[in-house]
Amino acid sequence: MSSKVTTQNKNTYLGAIEAGGTKIICAIATPQGEILTQTRFPTCDPESTLQEAVHFFQKNLPLDSSLTSLGIGTFGPAGVNPALPNYGEILATPKQGWQGANLIKPFTNAFPGLKITIDTDVNAAALGEGINGAAKDLDSYVYITIGTGIGGGVVINNQIIKGHLHPEIGHISIHQEKSDTYTGACPFHANCIEGLASGEAIFQRWGQKAENLPPEHPAWELQSTYLASLCQTLTAVLSPQRIILGGGVMQQSHLLPLIQQKFLTKSANYWQLPPDYIITPKLGTQSGIIGAIQLAM
Ligand code: ADP
Ligand code: ZN
Repeated sequence: MSSKVTTQNKNTYLGAIEAGGTKIICAIATPQGEILTQTRFPTCDPESTLQEAVHFFQKNLPLDSSLTSLGIGTFGPAGVNPALPNYGEILATPKQGWQGANLIKPFTNAFPGLKITIDTDVNAAALGEGINGAAKDLDSYVYITIGTGIGGGVVINNQIIKGHLHPEIGHISIHQEKSDTYTGACPFHANCIEGLASGEAIFQRWGQKAENLPPEHPAWELQSTYLASLCQTLTAVLSPQRIILGGGVMQQSHLLPLIQQKFLTKSANYWQLPPDYIITPKLGTQSGIIGAIQLAM
């Protein structure tokens, strides 16, 4: 999917990586953030995956130019605090082989002096949507992905929220419906929001992938109940101006109106929020890589 770039009108470039649990996107951009070329490939073991990313930059960087900085939005949990020794490392992930993987070394070995900025994939996606997407012109918003797992990035007063680690919105504890006897998909907490409402949870509970469940299937009633509860918790804790719900599962266009309606009922319209308070992303699958470019900038 990648193509060699031959233009030579600029001699420094930015690199960006969105490292997801199932796929990696790499891009080369101008210092102004314009994407020149990008590629995607599956996430395999850390060594071969990171080497493939290094090769992408080596092969596609225009002649006589250099990569000055690299922004990486990664799946988590990951060390994202530059002041800590675990900066740039994948932490306690159930993803085979990745715990302790160092995301910085393969790139600084190949490109000495490269400046690297690392954050979570969802924080990067939040930044991307803030630049030119669903949160353009807002200073406080939340980006949630409902994909294989659930994750979220939070921007408040134009700052990405990070503390001891980074927010782990997928692991928020949530009230499980009495009618729902499914044990939950999270290997750590069973029935946290990721355990109850991720794509993997849908698949395990109903025995079918989310994309194959028809709109009238009872899965969607339950799914929208859980996601509306999540939105209520986020609203009560963070008071964002908008909540953006992305990820594969949200591609079911009947799901958003169900969530919006249930959120209003659950929260008893307590906050008097605008109709477009809960929406889907505007940048589609590009939010994360655009945010990673922003990290590099
Ligand atoms: P990932 O989370 O792996 O990075 P995605 O955001 O694409 O990637 O999420 C994958 C999950 O979304 C899977 O559980 C899959 O079943 C579900 N999914 C993918 N496409 C759709 C769709 N069109 N409708 C509903 N669910 C989908
Ligand atoms: Zn959990």
